[in-house]
Amino acid sequence: MAQVRVFNLGYDPETGIGELLHTTTVRHAFGMIRREVADPVELTMLGDRIVPTALELTRELSGAWVEGAGQRSVGFSYRAVHERDHWTCAYCGRSVSKTPSCEGLLATVDHILPSSRGGASSWTNLVSACKECNNRKADRTPEEAGMLLRAEPYDPAHSFRVAGYAQGLPLLIRGGA
Ligand SMILES: [Zn+2]
Repeated sequence: MAQVRVFNLGYDPETGIGELLHTTTVRHAFGMIRREVADPVELTMLGDRIVPTALELTRELSGAWVEGAGQRSVGFSYRAVHERDHWTCAYCGRSVSKTPSCEGLLATVDHILPSSRGGASSWTNLVSACKECNNRKADRTPEEAGMLLRAEPYDPAHSFRVAGYAQGLPLLIRGGA
């Protein structure tokens, strides 16, 4: 049975990078599309049918602990990474924001092991970083770039469980099936 990957809102079709929440069946995927819970972002031919191979949720899930489709996974958003890191650059320690006083302090999310080299979009591979540090680090590990991580990223999992989401989310994923 083909599995369909379900990404959080914010999936980038150009790079294929997104927050993978879980996988589901083609049947459930069609259900999610029909209820406008998710949009297809990748399609393939299966026999004479066009079926989705990846979906993107139509609204962002954040700060939730997801247990769906028999797979353990943590739902998170880039915003949640910034919140975990208190909107502080992991490399220079300056405050970052979405509306920074200068361009260099724009909040970005850095893949410690670059995604181009297989680094996951996971709690433990992502840190809040200012645009300046992120650009300087580029496609390198902190060691290669000679940059020091000021704090070890961690998985907030249970402590991050948000009331309401914890119960609402599996329903959304199962699609009421
Ligand atoms: Zn910085």
